[in-house]
Amino acid sequence: MLNLRSYVSGRWIEGGGNAQTLVNPATEEPLACAASDGVDLAAALEHARRVGGPALRALSFAERGALLKGMAQALQANRDALLELAIANGGNTRSDAKFDIEGAVFTLATYAELGERLGPARFLIDGEGVQLGRSPRFHGQHVCVPRAGVAVHINAFNFPAWGLAEKAAAALLAGMPVLSKPATSSAMVAHRIMEILVEKKILPDGAMSLLVGGPRELASLLGGQDVLAFTGSGDTGAQLRALKNVIGESVRVNVEADSLNAAVLGPDVEHGDDMYELFLKDVQRDMTQKAGQKCTAIRRVLVPEALARDVRDDLAELLGAVRVGNPTLEEVRMGPLATASQLAEAREGVERLAVEGKLAFGSAARPAAVGVPAGRGYFLSPVLIEFPAGAAAFSAHAREVFGPVASLLPYSGTAEEAAAIVARGRGGLVSSLYSEDQDWMEKAVFGIAPYNGRIFLGHPKIELSPGPGTVLPQLVHGGPGRAGGGEELGGTRALAFYMQRVALEGSRPAIQKLLGIQSS
Ligand code: NAP
Repeated sequence: MLNLRSYVSGRWIEGGGNAQTLVNPATEEPLACAASDGVDLAAALEHARRVGGPALRALSFAERGALLKGMAQALQANRDALLELAIANGGNTRSDAKFDIEGAVFTLATYAELGERLGPARFLIDGEGVQLGRSPRFHGQHVCVPRAGVAVHINAFNFPAWGLAEKAAAALLAGMPVLSKPATSSAMVAHRIMEILVEKKILPDGAMSLLVGGPRELASLLGGQDVLAFTGSGDTGAQLRALKNVIGESVRVNVEADSLNAAVLGPDVEHGDDMYELFLKDVQRDMTQKAGQKCTAIRRVLVPEALARDVRDDLAELLGAVRVGNPTLEEVRMGPLATASQLAEAREGVERLAVEGKLAFGSAARPAAVGVPAGRGYFLSPVLIEFPAGAAAFSAHAREVFGPVASLLPYSGTAEEAAAIVARGRGGLVSSLYSEDQDWMEKAVFGIAPYNGRIFLGHPKIELSPGPGTVLPQLVHGGPGRAGGGEELGGTRALAFYMQRVALEGSRPAIQKLLGIQSS
């Protein structure tokens, strides 16, 4: 069996101690193991800070962008092998695997282009200079420079390629070295990516490290110039934030956590019209893509009471057409959940929801799964749970169920009530609105905006819309409250997390000369 190794301090190291076995979640066949005991974490971080940091900071944005372009090309050249790994270790269908691998390539390529556009500079000029006194000579200018530490990235199991790439793209472009820790259960894809980057010598020494296996005390070793970007459960995020060094040294932390994303159908939409069909398609796709293990998946489906029965029946029909089983089979549209514990948690979540609501499609029981040995694999069917109109529906807003599970919530149709229900999720990554009623849309957008990182305005005329579940590098990803309060991506906005904003105050000509600004 393959032993995954960590790449730290410029070399591959096999960890010892309690190894975790990585399996194929469709068949439970063991594929690899990973352990991190014995890996010198302090030395790994120091190597990144002392060797990788200066090498990256010596480069311009355009040169760092060229590194990202090299990464994108290397991943693209190995696309098929990475897809196979994502299918085997992640339980992904081919389409799910493409979402992860191609998303990684696209995000790296987008940040490569951004680097090219930012050009020969090594820092960012932030806004206009300001006159500070009566004399125009007394001048102020903000600039953003790369932080002198290491960026530690702790990722969730669901997007091993994209998660690594989207965080690394922003950090490397900003000029910070990265130590990436993938979730252990699905680490084979991230491990192979690291092998590719090392084999092809894409990055300077120390610019990128990979820790496989448990995190041990990694986050406790960070200091004031370091940053920690975490994606995973809200509980782990809260633990990391509360670490003594994180508080005492003001370690900058970004958390992407749980989210009860909502899709809201407006009162103007009629059964069977184009908007209605788009809404159904988006909900079905979001519930079943990656078996619902997407932080942006729709969890709460808000429908005006008059249409609730139609939506329930139509959605149940669409969900019934989704073949569940071994994702290597072409006819299979939904694979298993990633691990036995994710399945156990999702089942428990379904049971909790079904106490208050009513199962409209699927259940917590094992579904028929095609192409797998009897009883094997971590399968759950799509599950739709219907709540009575106007019910207080506590459980639908209480906890995210990380699987192909959504709650159907009838509401009065007013934008005010929709916004109040969305807000009960206590902060989310994305919500989507489906309506052509301008007045309703305005009230709904501004009603839900404080509770979301992104709002998707569904419209049938947008060709090839990826739906609300797709995170695009040009737009921010993150959300308030339960979602972790973080923000990633969003073009150049992503760089701010990895840079120190500093105000320069002094003589105008001296500052302008220092920064290479032409005096006007
Ligand atoms: P998790 O247990 O919090 O694990 C996430 C990552 O944190 C893994 O790499 C894990 O490593 C690591 N980790 C666990 N405990 C740690 C600790 N004490 N110190 C440092 N690192 C630690 O989350 P999960 O249950 O695997 O992931 C599912 C959850 O992630 C879902 O609830 C979902 O909502 C959330 N999620 C959010 C987003 C987003 O973008 N907002 C995206 C995907 C998932 P090991 O694997 O080695 O334990």
